[in-house]
Amino acid sequence: MKRIVVKIGSNVLTRADGALDITRMSALVDQVAELRAKGLEIILVSSGAVASGRSELKLEKKLDPVSARQLFSAVGQAKLINRYYELFREHHILCGQALTTKENFGSRSHYLNQKRCLEAMLENGVIPVVNENDTVSVTELMFTDNDELSGLVAAMMGADALVILSNVDGIYNGNPAEPGVGVVPEIRKGMENPSDYVHAATSSFGRGGMLTKCNIARKVAGEGILAIVANGKRENILLQLLEEGSRTPCTRFIPSPKPASNVKKWIAHSEGFAKGEIHLNQGAVQALGQPRAVSVLLVGVTRIVGDFEKDDIVRIINHEGKQMGVGCTAYSSRDAARMAGQKDKKPLVHYDFLYIDES
Ligand code: GLU
Repeated sequence: MKRIVVKIGSNVLTRADGALDITRMSALVDQVAELRAKGLEIILVSSGAVASGRSELKLEKKLDPVSARQLFSAVGQAKLINRYYELFREHHILCGQALTTKENFGSRSHYLNQKRCLEAMLENGVIPVVNENDTVSVTELMFTDNDELSGLVAAMMGADALVILSNVDGIYNGNPAEPGVGVVPEIRKGMENPSDYVHAATSSFGRGGMLTKCNIARKVAGEGILAIVANGKRENILLQLLEEGSRTPCTRFIPSPKPASNVKKWIAHSEGFAKGEIHLNQGAVQALGQPRAVSVLLVGVTRIVGDFEKDDIVRIINHEGKQMGVGCTAYSSRDAARMAGQKDKKPLVHYDFLYIDES
């Protein structure tokens, strides 16, 4: 393993009153420094801006939720990065702040710009500390949560592993409060879909819950990246997780042996930017289920929904109306609708720009 993305949730970094837990942060920074000394490249995706800003500010008058979040994050992010900077400096390591928004992942050029920035940081020995730019990303512009952001960063940077740290030990096979329920140690492709048994409750400070962690982890594992969900409050968790034969409780999502290409990884995570839908007949759906490389052809199209241009991201919908993947379309919605059902045309979504969900 060479490159690891570590996502630290708000609940790991904050105390019960919402203030930053400096002891915890310091312990995690020590571990990151140790991993780096072993030759690993680490990218942090850290939450905690909104929570720490909230604990800092005493508002005179009530603000609307959007302005409050903007204000809290503006103050909290400054505090957070300042702490990281000081803590890493004790190890003679520089860290840098990389704030981003969902829009930066929507177009390939923004995406590559962002990737180049993080690569430059790593090449120069700087640890990137990534967070959403919560001051400007509000309502529908927001990532689902930082779990989604960490999956995007892991895919973008071609990481070998994504470690999602929260305040629970992993994915439980039911409600952890009930007897007989425990952490599922390993999830592989083809096993029962964990979303069927995951408890839907979210943590108190962050936005993400176990369900999104699970979905993100499955997705990145499908792209060939090992994903681990573990408890960031456990002593030496990062070092222990990466030890050979480790018995630390956690859930490991075993990566698919066939890693996805960089473009496919981008497309897999671009669903949020989809402009329309391509509905397919059963024959086309069956063909796409084959292990070999198959493109989406106009001949299998039953319906086009939405208004999109060539090169936009579209959802691929099966004959039962369920989404089965995403892709980058080679036709506009008008041309695709006009030519639907025709044979011997160039593919509507070429295999290289198509991502079919793992099931
Ligand atoms: N970006 C938010 C913060 O730093 C956290 C979002 C989340 O909870 O996932 O406060």
